[in-house]
Amino acid sequence: MWSIQRIHYLQGVIKYNFHTHSSYSDGSAEPEEYVIQAIREGFTDLGFSEHAPLAVTPNTFALREDKVEEYVRVIRDLQEKYKDSITLHAGMEMDYILGISGNFATNAVRWGLDYVIGSVHLVPGENEEGLWFIDGPDQRIYDEGLLKFFGGDIRKAIEAYYLQVKKMILTEDFDIVGHLDKVRMHNKNRFFQDEEGWYRELVLDVLDEIAKRKLVVEVNTRGLYKKRNDQLFPATWVLKEILKRDISILLSSDAHKPEEVSNLLNESFVALKEIGFKTHQLKAINPHQIFKERGRINSKPR
Ligand SMILES: [Zn+2]
Ligand SMILES: [Zn+2]
Repeated sequence: MWSIQRIHYLQGVIKYNFHTHSSYSDGSAEPEEYVIQAIREGFTDLGFSEHAPLAVTPNTFALREDKVEEYVRVIRDLQEKYKDSITLHAGMEMDYILGISGNFATNAVRWGLDYVIGSVHLVPGENEEGLWFIDGPDQRIYDEGLLKFFGGDIRKAIEAYYLQVKKMILTEDFDIVGHLDKVRMHNKNRFFQDEEGWYRELVLDVLDEIAKRKLVVEVNTRGLYKKRNDQLFPATWVLKEILKRDISILLSSDAHKPEEVSNLLNESFVALKEIGFKTHQLKAINPHQIFKERGRINSKPR
């Protein structure tokens, strides 16, 4: 384990990604194509994190419940096939929606998963039935949802989002908080500024809970390489607060195509060092350490 950390630290090279979507959810290719790409890039580890089955309609993005067994089996078979080259992990990105999503830990055990990313993409509306979709490529869907579900009141909408993230942290057992502040992706300083006190307080409150629960915060590069945002998720000021609280972080590309598995990981690693993350936080980047501490990892580090 020490040698993996040491190499990452010395070379500034991230050789793993734990946020990957294949065609089992909304990714573009079969899992094996991602594995081949990851080996080509010299990865030590690749984790698959399909969107977990979710009872919402329409649902074109998530893994189907009747495909879960097959998905996990395919990853285990690929692990056997490529065991001399890479360590594979079968995880899921689970959506938290009060009253809709299933219990994370129960499902993780039932499905035999190695790890769970907890994320919020859909926020129940205040004004009418339905869910505000805060993600995706189309800014208009964000804007229309804001109007339809929250009467255009951005503060109410953002508060609802972070309350949902907080409830997830307080009530679910999982490993990694996915793209913590993705709700700001389509905002682009149009409805509010990150510097506003009310917004900062919402984020800081959530960070305090994350620190208490010793969860890992994902540093997600997708918004940058898809050019949907000009910062990482979380934003630089949030990363500084994470550093202050000694919260562990994990760099992820949130790949939806094989060629995205390492997108901006190394560049972001350099940026994190510039923000001030030091040796003990870099140590925390080691995924084996993170999962070992959470007691969930099934596979041994190489
Ligand atoms: Zn996500
Ligand atoms: Zn994702």
